[in-house]
Amino acid sequence: MNISDSERIESVLLNAKFKKVYCENLADFVIVNSCSVRQAAENRAISTLKLARKNKQVAIITGCSAVKEKKRFENFADFVLDIKDLKKWPSILPCPWQGSRKKRTFAMGKVETNYFKINPNYSSKFHAYVPIMTGCNNFCSYCVVPYSRGREVSRPVNEILDEVKFLLKHGYNAITLLGQNVNSYKGTISNILISEYPKIKFGKYCDFATLLKLLNLIENDYWIWFVTSHPKDMSLKLIKTIKSCKKVCHYIHLPAQAGNDLILEKMNRKYTHAKYLKLVKLIKKNLSDVCLSTDIIVGFPGETKKQFLDTCKLFKEVKYDMAFLAKYSPRPGTISFKMKDNVLMTEKKRRENYLNDILRKTALNNNKKYLGKTVDILVEKKNLGRTKTFKLVKFESDKDLIGQIVKAKITKSLAWILEGEIKN
Ligand code: SAH
Ligand code: SF4
Repeated sequence: MNISDSERIESVLLNAKFKKVYCENLADFVIVNSCSVRQAAENRAISTLKLARKNKQVAIITGCSAVKEKKRFENFADFVLDIKDLKKWPSILPCPWQGSRKKRTFAMGKVETNYFKINPNYSSKFHAYVPIMTGCNNFCSYCVVPYSRGREVSRPVNEILDEVKFLLKHGYNAITLLGQNVNSYKGTISNILISEYPKIKFGKYCDFATLLKLLNLIENDYWIWFVTSHPKDMSLKLIKTIKSCKKVCHYIHLPAQAGNDLILEKMNRKYTHAKYLKLVKLIKKNLSDVCLSTDIIVGFPGETKKQFLDTCKLFKEVKYDMAFLAKYSPRPGTISFKMKDNVLMTEKKRRENYLNDILRKTALNNNKKYLGKTVDILVEKKNLGRTKTFKLVKFESDKDLIGQIVKAKITKSLAWILEGEIKN
């Protein structure tokens, strides 16, 4: 989401005749697009701002921290700007060549529906991030996102379709639909849209499964990824839609956060270990080649060693391909901030390592099924591509294949990467 926001910041400022420099030291302005999910990320944002000021650059902060901790960040930045007001930034920022470096802050505005309409300066020429919603209504007890990004706002269906068609016209091969909780997407639909798709059954709103169907109907060959899916909103209808839509990739990031029922309840995740597992079984039954990943928080307040073992059990049961492990970080303003952060950092680290060890084994084992198979890969960098299931594939080739979808025969499988030979 931050990459996508940054692409929009770049396009607005380039349009206002700002120039991008490729060496940080040469910049007049340094913009930190912050994430406030964990303290460590916020600390990094502060260090970057301090460094910019030391270098006599105009230090600007935006993103989640700018909204959430505006007052605090005014101490470190010349400007604290809300991304939702992006269109107004050029009129707020001073011209450095006029020597104006007056400290000003800008109040948080309402959700600018125009924000979605800003054409991003895409950072890739073949794989684009397409936001379909912002914000979150779930209020997990540890999470700042509902406070920093506000309530869920879904982007109208026709805007998403237009952006994707535009990208395909310009040669893009893959898109990633973005949202804090993509499967609770509720897009507004117009009468024109209904008449254009007589075979699609629309409700009052367009849900995520229907959006995927519409995107799948676009004639071009391309890949559709999406993040993030909340387990409570992952329905059988959606799973069946993923199965039936050829362009939708079989990679699902389905954050469990924990494996113990009491911890899940304290986290306000609205599912149990058993319910999550049942969902995983349903997904695997319908999408036999699916790859699954998760987010986990270790050391949530009060999490005992025994409760942690339920997360280990979940890891062994699900057999994830990838996991993003985070040590619990108390965030001011959240519900769990009032709970005692009583798991020691050393213990959090130990739990993280323990899960990583299980993950390495399950990922390695899962990767064995690719051996000898020929798969399509989207080449992202020189000699590095990605399968539809989001697995990295390393290969040797003298040709410039970046941005192309090519066939690779898998010759070696490791835990975090596959190796293959390009087929001509
Ligand atoms: N909407 C997504 C997650 C977005 S935040 C979902 O519900 O799954 C990304 C990840 O940051 C979360 O999944 C969680 O694992 C982690 N995270 C959020 N708040 C955290 C906190 N206070 N401490 C540690 N990790 C946190
Ligand atoms: Fe945060 Fe929960 Fe919303 Fe994800 S679903 S963004 S973890 S509140």
